[in-house]
Amino acid sequence: MHSNLEDNPLNHFEPYLPLLSEALQKLDAWRNRFGEHAGIAQADPDEIRNILSDLETRLEGNYPFHHPQYAGQMLKPPHPVAWLAYALTATINPNNHALDGGPPTSQMEKEAVAHLAGMVGYEENWLGHLTSAGTIANLEALFVSREIHPGKKVAATANAHYTHSRMSHVLNMPFLEIPVSARGVPDLDFIDMHGREIGTLVVTMGTTGLGYVEPLGEMLALSKKHGFRIHADAAYGGFFRLIAPDLPKHADWNLLSEADSIVIDPHKHGLQPYGCGSVLYKDASVGRFFKHDSPYTYFTSDQLHLGEISLECSRAGASAAAFWATLELLPLTPDGLGSVLRKARNASVSFTERVKESKEFDLYTEPDLDIAGYFKIPGQKTASAVSESSQRIFREGMENPESGYHLSLFRVPAAHFCTIFHDYDADAHDVVLLRSVFMKEEHEAYIDILADRLGM
Ligand SMILES: *Cc1c(COP(=O)(O)O)cnc(C)c1O
Repeated sequence: MHSNLEDNPLNHFEPYLPLLSEALQKLDAWRNRFGEHAGIAQADPDEIRNILSDLETRLEGNYPFHHPQYAGQMLKPPHPVAWLAYALTATINPNNHALDGGPPTSQMEKEAVAHLAGMVGYEENWLGHLTSAGTIANLEALFVSREIHPGKKVAATANAHYTHSRMSHVLNMPFLEIPVSARGVPDLDFIDMHGREIGTLVVTMGTTGLGYVEPLGEMLALSKKHGFRIHADAAYGGFFRLIAPDLPKHADWNLLSEADSIVIDPHKHGLQPYGCGSVLYKDASVGRFFKHDSPYTYFTSDQLHLGEISLECSRAGASAAAFWATLELLPLTPDGLGSVLRKARNASVSFTERVKESKEFDLYTEPDLDIAGYFKIPGQKTASAVSESSQRIFREGMENPESGYHLSLFRVPAAHFCTIFHDYDADAHDVVLLRSVFMKEEHEAYIDILADRLGM
């Protein structure tokens, strides 16, 4: 089967380069308005060309993150509008820590974050800002939790990102791990039983492993009963809110606005280069916990400085510009950025169908989003035979760059695996599955090729 992807003009960067050059020339006119000076740092272009050429060669050591044959980890290139906006803004290098570090990019950050608040359904009185990643965004939300419920526990499921237990340690907060079923369903009785100890319950909307969407509705009901906070970690899944009606757990997505805090990573499903996370709070009064008075930041205006509500100091204004520009092109609507998420979701649905039709492979669990866990059925039905075949298939895919594929591996407890697949012998502690993240819109048209290459 042949793809015509190579003929697709969108696979080339040429059309975008004149746009950057035009915009840089206009920005030069602005630079020159300030009168004669020694100029921007000068260097010999030929020397830089040589270095860039060496860099280009080194970059070829990457896996093909841009290509749909790469269906491994949560990695993909940013949208052209994002890297163009980032590159243009980075020539000025504004800092969104204080308003004076970059008035226009601070304004763009406020506008972009307001779009995120609108997407999750927060109205008025919310607070939020961009961060350099989901990790620091989660740290901030847990810090606020600690200030509100000192001494109480952070509870998160065994499928939650490891950052929650690690950051609880950093914040000196006790951490409680909630057991999950083989299919990723949190033990709600366990949460109910420990309700009084919990200060904040983390609900992951799209786990990093297999993209499970945890039952926000039922977890919110427990928070009302016991009075703990709900922190939605939607670092990976947040933008799926845009296509909630098309998803299996749409009722939970519609309740996102009831979470006390939410983390969403624009550098995961928001088409951004790395350095772009975000945190939102339902009640703006949590801003009081961030109060500081620094002689270094130059408060020349009464307006909100983003550094006043953030634990991080310097942050790239270019990130805000890139995200803002992306939302101008692809607004947070079902037909804007939602169209990209829909293609990713469609890809995982068609892939899942191929796995189920195949006599050679089996699906671990039905995906809630765009991540599939699956395995090749081994001759001998044991946990270790499944792991061996996953590892072999994983390695084989990378051997031939032109006709191969790139997957990732995911470890589940053998006890869970054998709950779903009764006829397997749990001869090891864990089972290694194959895992595919279908987060590129190009995956939608590529599923059959990928499934054929896998021998499904
Ligand atoms: C990726 C991820 C994080 C960590 O975010 P980074 O941006 O990698 O720092 C936290 N939680 C979840 C659910 C994630 O998927």
